[in-house]
This record gives sequence, C-alpha cells and structure tokens, in this order.
Amino acid sequence: MTIRKKYINKNCFKQKKNNSIYKIVRKNILNFTPYKSARSLYKNNTNNLISLNANESPITSIFSLNKRIFNKYPEPQSKELINLYSKYVNLNSKNILITRGADEGIDLIIRTFCNKKNDKILFCPPTYDMYRVTAEILDIKYITINSNSNWDLDLNKIKQNLHNIKIIFICNPNNPTGNYINQNNIIKLLELIKNKIIIVIDEAYIEFCIDQTLTNFINKYNNLIILRTLSKAFALAGLRCGFILANKYIIDILIKVIAPYPIPEPVIDIAIQALNLKNLIIMKNNVKTIINNKQWLIKHLKNCSCIKNIFNSSTNFILIKFHNSEIIFKKLIKKKIIVRNQNHEKKLNNCLRITIGTFIECKKLFFEIKKLSF
Ligand SMILES: *Cc1c(COP(=O)(O)O)cnc(C)c1O
Repeated sequence: MTIRKKYINKNCFKQKKNNSIYKIVRKNILNFTPYKSARSLYKNNTNNLISLNANESPITSIFSLNKRIFNKYPEPQSKELINLYSKYVNLNSKNILITRGADEGIDLIIRTFCNKKNDKILFCPPTYDMYRVTAEILDIKYITINSNSNWDLDLNKIKQNLHNIKIIFICNPNNPTGNYINQNNIIKLLELIKNKIIIVIDEAYIEFCIDQTLTNFINKYNNLIILRTLSKAFALAGLRCGFILANKYIIDILIKVIAPYPIPEPVIDIAIQALNLKNLIIMKNNVKTIINNKQWLIKHLKNCSCIKNIFNSSTNFILIKFHNSEIIFKKLIKKKIIVRNQNHEKKLNNCLRITIGTFIECKKLFFEIKKLSF
C-alpha cells in the first residue's frame, strides 16, 4: 500500500512521496503543521541582526558554572532550586515542579490528564500556538473559542462548549496580543468548573504585570495550574528552565509522568544563581527598563501614519496593526530588523508582533518605521 498524498505535509517534507517511512509514522504527525519558532524562521547567524521576533530579553548577564563534574545523574527535582523558586513566588515547595521550559509543562499536563478517546482541550485564539501543536502531536482533540474584541475571554461561549473538555489553557498575559485577561472572568470560570476541568494559566510574561498573577489562588482552587519560565523576564531563554505551580496532589501526579532526570545539572546550577537576591533585583530592574523602553516606543510610534493601531501591552512585546504590514515587514528585514509576522493568523491581518529591545534598538526601529510613514 502506498501512503495517500493527503498525509504528506508539503511544508515540512521534501522526501519522495512513496518513502516507506511514511507508512509507519503516526498519521496525525504526518498531517499537522509544526510550531514555527522564531529561530527556525530566521537564524541568528548574521552579524548586527536585531532580532525582535522571539520575545527574548535584550539584556544579557554572564554566568559561570560552579559545578564541573557530571558523571552522576542530577537530582530529579533540585530541592535547592525549588526552595528558591518557592520563596520567589511565595508558595510552599510542595506546590512546585521544575520543567524544561514552560513548553514541557504544556506537554506534561496534556499527557497526564487527557485520553485520546474522549478528552479535549480548549483555548482562545489568537494565542500561543504550542497548545494546538502539543495537542496535535499527542492526538488530543481541541476546541477553540475566539477571544472577544478586547482580546478577553468570551465566557458565555466557553460555558456553552465545555462538553468533554479536560483542560482550558489561558495565556495571561496573552501572546501575541499582549493584554492581560480580566481576573474576575478567570475566577468566575474557576468557580464554574471546580472539581471538573483543569485551568492552566500560562504566566510566561507575568513579571511584566506581576500584580496579575494568580499564584494566590493555587491553594484555593485544586484545578488551577500555573506555568512559569525563566525564558522571558529572567533573560534565560537559552537555559530551558520552567516551573509548574499547582496544589500538591497535581504535582505528585505530574512527577509520575515527567522524565526521571529532566533538568540537566548545568541548568540547575545557573537557575539557582539566577534566583539569588542580587539577581532577582537585577531581573526586576531589567523589567522596569524594558517597560520604559516600551512606553518610549509606543509614544513615538503613535504618530506614524503607516500604523493603524497599537494594542495595549502588559508584556515585553507589542502587537501593532499596520495599513500594510507586508511592506513594513520586508523593509525592516532589509534593515536587519526581524519582527514576528502575524499577518497569516486569523483576526491578526496586517499585524506584526515586535519584541521590546534595548533603547538603541527601539530608537533604530522607530527611525525605520517613521521613514515608512508619510
Ligand atoms: C515563550 C513562551 C513559552 C515558552 O517558554 P519556555 O520556558 O521557553 O518553554 C510558553 N508560553 C508562552 C505564552 C510563551 O510566550
């Protein structure tokens, strides 16, 4: 039997159609569109490239390893790192699990709670694409309920579509729109589905609007899970370290499923340093700097005639609607400024997502966009 053509995703495979490997690959894997990371779209190997496409921090710090011997497996869940993070989020250490970035958290939670036959997850586009990607890889069905015109939860629609839903993913503040989600709506939803459906709040950018965190509710709602990461405000995207926050029953179940030694020793070593008092102060100052740069950039871009709308942002990036985003996107690339194109996404036509860089990068970006306005 030859594999049918519809199972071959032309975007990712260039092999011959009848390559026999297709016969043994799971069909949902052949079918789906993989996550397009900023780094896979534009490699950072050119000099002087300003990459404002991956929501990384532009502020670097230098770490060196304290540990130099690696013949032994690491501690499965480093107590020292968990204790430091528990102080930082003001939760008990029993409420914390370390993961390889927040992305592993998404995968771990879906794998633990959903069975292929009946269960579905729900999320609210436009939002982070990894909820869809992970569900498709694991062959779990999903329902999407578009956010309303303020990019907030459409509570009524969500309520009407909870049949067979096991997990609701809410990105707060949301990527790529940049807004935070109305906290009352999240609480209403938590109340409504208590003991029935898990709500995962993805707080990857929460340090940029820390008063919006829901960590205080972890011990009030046993169905609440929060995802955190060191990739954004902590400026450690290269480290691959994240955290799951939840009540201890959920953490104990997730520990059964996570890989035996998930966090490499060098990662533990550096994450411990990043969470000491001195580095926490540096992180908070960097957050302030980025927010100041953002306010400067928004103030100056407001008068550019090529821009239709700058959406409110509580993150380290801004979503901008242009009159013609393709022209802007291409012109910026010529000037070695890479931003994230959202034009192909539903409801985001003519939108670009731009990470806030250093002040010099913000000035350069403004200068180039201004030149395109007349
Ligand atoms: C960047 C990002 C992540 C991924 O975090 P990692 O810890 O780097 O895996 C998760 N969720 C959202 C919304 C993000 O923007």
